[in-house]
Amino acid sequence: MFEHIYFARPDSILDGQAAWQSRSQLGVELAREHPADADVVIGVPDSATAHAIGYSSESGIPYSEGLVKNRYVGRTFISPDQRLRDLGAHLKYNPMPSVLAGRRVVVVDDTIVRGTTTPRIVKLLREAGAAEIHMRIAAPPIRHPCHFGVDMATRQELIAARKSEEEIRRHLGADSLGYLSQDGLQRALSLGKTTCLACFNGDYPVSVQTDFEFDTLAVPLVTAHPRPTNGNGNGAAPRRSGRSDETMVALAPERR
Ligand code: SF4
Repeated sequence: MFEHIYFARPDSILDGQAAWQSRSQLGVELAREHPADADVVIGVPDSATAHAIGYSSESGIPYSEGLVKNRYVGRTFISPDQRLRDLGAHLKYNPMPSVLAGRRVVVVDDTIVRGTTTPRIVKLLREAGAAEIHMRIAAPPIRHPCHFGVDMATRQELIAARKSEEEIRRHLGADSLGYLSQDGLQRALSLGKTTCLACFNGDYPVSVQTDFEFDTLAVPLVTAHPRPTNGNGNGAAPRRSGRSDETMVALAPERR
């Protein structure tokens, strides 16, 4: 599923169709389900560009680039901790006031996972003068973790697992918010009935253990304590902290 929406290169052929075409069609469905009164459509680069162009072609609202991506900053998705993800989001996008100032803007993104990057994007767009910001998301709300290899977040971290759509809109600071429905997703991608959609609807195709207390890929952090000296310069070796609740770190950092 996420190969179609996000992971695959736009020129990849998936199930006989270029990923770029599939993403554009997701944008078409999104525009049908969630129209907006706006002056311009922009995408969050680079992955949502095709979705935004699809939204524009269906709605008739002109498409433009409105955010320029800094190619020298890594993806926030793969930053190893929250502080670096926050900093990365600020460094990563440069808004274009010449496109945004005084205009009502539809901003199309592919997904919202934790909801940490999108509020910063909305803030950047407001600072650049956007009069209104209408967030449109080309996938349904992600409410359940993936147990099949896409290490996106724990359930507690998924914003849509904790908040209603109106609460998410307020959290983002957008004037409106619209997610593509599951039916819209299936129409756009011509999905068969057996395709996994579990991160959207919780209907896992095989039984999974859903009640892990901690991230299963987490390990206790080794904490170095001051070495007590024994008078001859030798000290005790660093030891493991016994407080697992505050010393868990993830080995697999690919989170957004
Ligand atoms: S839960 Fe299913 S649809 Fe969601 S990321 Fe995992 S495999 Fe893909």
